Amino acid sequence: MRGDFFHEGELVGVLTTQPIDRVLDYKAPEGGCSLGAFVEVPLGPRKVLGVVWSAGKGDWDYAKVRSVIRVLDVAPMADEMQQFLTRAADYTLTPLSAMLRLATRAPGLGDAPSMRKVYRLGSVTPDRMTEARTKVLDVLRDYGGLSFTLKEVADMAGVTSSVVKGLVKLGAVAEEDSPRDLPYPRLDPEYGRKDLTDDQEGGARVLRDAVRSGTYGTTLLKGVTGSGKTEVYLEAVAECLRQGRQALVLLPEIALTSEFITRVEARFGMKPAEWHSGVTMTERRRCWKMVGQGEAQLVVGARSALFLPYRDLGLIVVDEEHDTSYKQEDGVLYNARDMTVLRASLNGAQVVLASATPSLESWANVEAGKYARVTLTSRYGAAVLPDMSAIDMRAEDLPGSRWVSPTLAGKVRQRLERGEQSLLFLNRRGYAPVTICRACGHQIGCDDCDATMVEHRFLKRLMCHQCGETKPMPTVCPSCEAEDRLAPVGPGVERMAEEAQALFPDARVAVLSSDLYGSARALKEHIESIARGDADVIVGTQLVAKGHNFPKLTLVGVIDADLGLQGSDLRAAERTFQLMRQVAGRAGRAEAPGEAVLQTFQPEHPVIRAILGGDEEAFWAAEAGERKAAGVPPYGRMAGIVLSSTDVQEVFDLGTQMARNDAPLRRIGAQVFGPAPAPIARIRGRHRVRLLVKAEKGAPLQAALAAWAGQFKLRGELRMAIDIDPQSF
Ligand code: ADP
Ligand code: ZN
Repeated sequence: MRGDFFHEGELVGVLTTQPIDRVLDYKAPEGGCSLGAFVEVPLGPRKVLGVVWSAGKGDWDYAKVRSVIRVLDVAPMADEMQQFLTRAADYTLTPLSAMLRLATRAPGLGDAPSMRKVYRLGSVTPDRMTEARTKVLDVLRDYGGLSFTLKEVADMAGVTSSVVKGLVKLGAVAEEDSPRDLPYPRLDPEYGRKDLTDDQEGGARVLRDAVRSGTYGTTLLKGVTGSGKTEVYLEAVAECLRQGRQALVLLPEIALTSEFITRVEARFGMKPAEWHSGVTMTERRRCWKMVGQGEAQLVVGARSALFLPYRDLGLIVVDEEHDTSYKQEDGVLYNARDMTVLRASLNGAQVVLASATPSLESWANVEAGKYARVTLTSRYGAAVLPDMSAIDMRAEDLPGSRWVSPTLAGKVRQRLERGEQSLLFLNRRGYAPVTICRACGHQIGCDDCDATMVEHRFLKRLMCHQCGETKPMPTVCPSCEAEDRLAPVGPGVERMAEEAQALFPDARVAVLSSDLYGSARALKEHIESIARGDADVIVGTQLVAKGHNFPKLTLVGVIDADLGLQGSDLRAAERTFQLMRQVAGRAGRAEAPGEAVLQTFQPEHPVIRAILGGDEEAFWAAEAGERKAAGVPPYGRMAGIVLSSTDVQEVFDLGTQMARNDAPLRRIGAQVFGPAPAPIARIRGRHRVRLLVKAEKGAPLQAALAAWAGQFKLRGELRMAIDIDPQSF
């Protein structure tokens, strides 16, 4: 608990979640309130959520200051959390109230707990036992006196809920009312321990010692796919649990959580708390509250789980730390990986960044001695890394609108004969990226964005991948009105699946792409059925690159390895390298060695050669050299300023004006580039231009940006977004 307490009538400064970027004075309510308390306060005619942020300033007529309405029945915000939000707001140049909104995204925080029915082992043994009844009672006996919801009991026992209800009638299972916001069952750090290999044990020891130190530190845990990184960082989690501190594991993709939760349960005997957009409102509120009370020992979640009100956070693991989805590109622009390091440094917590293909940022921090490094060099068990080779597409005899080369098709046929799985990887959703009129050459574009409409045969519509707008596939060209002349150009995964089915008529072809499933659950079930072997050829987008285990998969064919190398983005090489290595890592597990082949028109390209050669250190060193020479991250600092408006002239005018009046930036030696059309020049009817600012590593970039941007008034439709450390430059 905090020392600072305010008695009734004393002035407190309250930060609300409303877009007013000021701490407002209120009088402490009857019974007083402590610093950090979550409160409800009047604001105009409304009641809003806030946090007692400081003592009041008292620069207002005391008689007119209104009182806090009530203190919510949740744990007050810890001092470190206040500091974290403040520092994160300063770093990202975001209003503090917007940061507080990120930290309070749980519905009904202040409500009294509602009740629900829970079930535990009863005292009566039924006369007549069935197999199903035995399963239920065994499960409840295994969990001692713990209570679960009806669904949890039925799921754990693998029976219908009517079986459980029948046992309640007989008194064999006890039914009770319990508050919804139940603490999570205790995790047992010694349960389900595995014997580690020497390599793994060495890594686990380093991480355990780090956690035991009780101080801040970051370790890069690098190891090829299947080397046991997860097993090793779970040992760090175990140590954190032993220390009685809380742990957080961040995952880049919701579709991965259920597989991961199952592993946690096998390791610690119980399920952890879960936090992401797929979790129900009730469960979210429970998670938020229990984290705040220190009753959730381990949280598994998406990047926003970093903003939960931990009481005593001892460890944060960022799995697949290089993944671009850790960057939030909407609303508050932040990179969860970087914010993790900030949060941990304020909490005396350890960070583990796990990846088979770390980001250049993390690699550079290891080089600079800021991060420790643990490397796992070989795959667990008998599994070996896949053989990697290129297929030179210039030498392949392939008709137009066909993408699987004869060489690749031959390799797939071998797998089909052996009953093994193949993956054809293409990082493009939909049927065809472009639809063109063969009469006039017109390409169908989105009405509101600067993007072509992508044909989705599965949905029977055209879709814009920027704004999500869809429209029916037209039969006549919207430009010249010619009939039946519209044709797909280029491949998407749906079209690849068609080609695969034509090439391998007896094979079971499955498409794995995020847009083809109504729900996360449907997607998960589909992935599980593929993993069990219900497909011979998988056609997939980058969704498959992210850590699913497909035990029967022995061949990965990358359809277009050159795809990511086009364009001018300085990060293109890094991204392609990571994605290709990641995808290749899907092939081959313990039972069967794997092979990965890259179809490319430029096998001599340095990035393709680096991917094939696997000499990562050399690749990183070369990349680092180029970034150093260009003075860009991680060896320099960058920020993007995106201006948008429905009026294209207006945005360019402001952009030009900003570029000319850059004195605050020049004072710190920073340069401005642009205005230029943003990477996506128009979204939802708004034109976007971008200015890029480049500064030296130690330069006070945020202060200069704030001073610079503050000189310009945003009139009418104009909007400005500041993106510190942009993903593309
Ligand atoms: P990574 O996270 O590096 O891809 P995992 O931790 O998922 O690797 O390990 C790959 C597979 O090998 C998993 O199925 C895992 O359970 C198994 N495995 C790894 N290390 C061990 C071990 N020491 N004992 C038993 N199984 C292990
Ligand atoms: Zn659009």
